[in-house]
Amino acid sequence: MRIEALHLTGFRNYRAFYSEFSPSVNLICGDNAQGKTNLLESICYLSQTHSFRTRKELELVRFGADYADMEAKIFSDGREQILRAVLFSGKRPRQLFLNGVKQKNAQSLKGVLTTVLFCPEDLLVLKKGAAERRRMIDAALCQLRPRYDRAVEEYTRLYNQKSAILRDHFERPDLMEVLPEFNERMAVAGALIVSGRAKYLRELERYASQFHSRFSGGTEELRIEYRTVSTIDDPYAPTKRLYEQIREHQQLHARAEAESGQCLSGPHKDDFEVFLGDRSIKVYGSQGQTRTAAISMKLAEREIFHADTGEMPVLLLDDVLSELDAGRQDFVLNQIKTGQVFITCCDKTRLTELGQTLMIEDGVLLGGGQAEGGV
Ligand code: ATP
Ligand code: MG
Repeated sequence: MRIEALHLTGFRNYRAFYSEFSPSVNLICGDNAQGKTNLLESICYLSQTHSFRTRKELELVRFGADYADMEAKIFSDGREQILRAVLFSGKRPRQLFLNGVKQKNAQSLKGVLTTVLFCPEDLLVLKKGAAERRRMIDAALCQLRPRYDRAVEEYTRLYNQKSAILRDHFERPDLMEVLPEFNERMAVAGALIVSGRAKYLRELERYASQFHSRFSGGTEELRIEYRTVSTIDDPYAPTKRLYEQIREHQQLHARAEAESGQCLSGPHKDDFEVFLGDRSIKVYGSQGQTRTAAISMKLAEREIFHADTGEMPVLLLDDVLSELDAGRQDFVLNQIKTGQVFITCCDKTRLTELGQTLMIEDGVLLGGGQAEGGV
């Protein structure tokens, strides 16, 4: 899967932009605030039909312009396809097109272009709380496994209802009568979730450790440990056994749940920890190490998607080079040899041996393709 060309009109600080891209590395260079991240944002928008930076479409339309038009020529699923989105500055709803045909909703555009994005905020995933990490696994797994997606949806719904019962039962003790049924259904969905996460994290570790080792010149070994419901001794066990062990945990915590008025048992408290050797990244990781591990995990996410679907997602790396030493920068610029990659960077002396460099200044591609050119 790759982007062959992109045409922007009135998107963010781009008045008119047209470029064709290398199927390998595209290094996007420019000073601060010139439009590098904006370019990745437009690609992400066409991939996911929403921005990773804002929910407000109006912000994406160039100041003073009536509309923003994004159009990309994609090679995907063995053929060329055209994705297009037009956003308006007024109240008019956006328009989405696939191969020139206006689409009723965003669903038909999904999957035409898959992207894996790394942005500086992703570093927080390894350093911050467990909720961020659960969100990261769920986002990747829900895309790949519809059954997992349904289990998470069901579990979340049941969890919210059970939490409300536990919160309100002090005033309304009769509510507790329905709790056994909730526990039963949460254990069924929970077992699928635990099984899915365990297998996904095992794959993630397998690929990420290979990348991390190459990245760090073989000096660091990355490991991922999955933490789930304490009564589960083997998260790879058949879901029937996971179900029984989740039930056991619920029984052990039934009293504490009633007393605290909170839902204490189940995979909604899951977490994973990333180690380099035997040291936790969260506790001991340096900035460069954390960044290296986070990028390795993104590369791993892409490999898993590729192994599963046969398509290699386009990799978007925003601002990854800072804080990396020369060897690690060389890995990012010159060693990611599979699939298409976009890398933004402020240092104009950086070069890639693999693809091409695009210079961006104030929303203009220097020495680039013609702005008038169609996709
Ligand atoms: P950095 O190296 O600092 O990350 P960057 O090249 O990634 O910089 P971007 O975030 O892509 O910078 O672009 C930021 C510029 O785009 C800002 O100057 C901002 O004012 C401008 N900008 C953002 N939205 C709009 C808009 N709707 N219309 C015009 N300009 C905009
Ligand atoms: Mg930026």
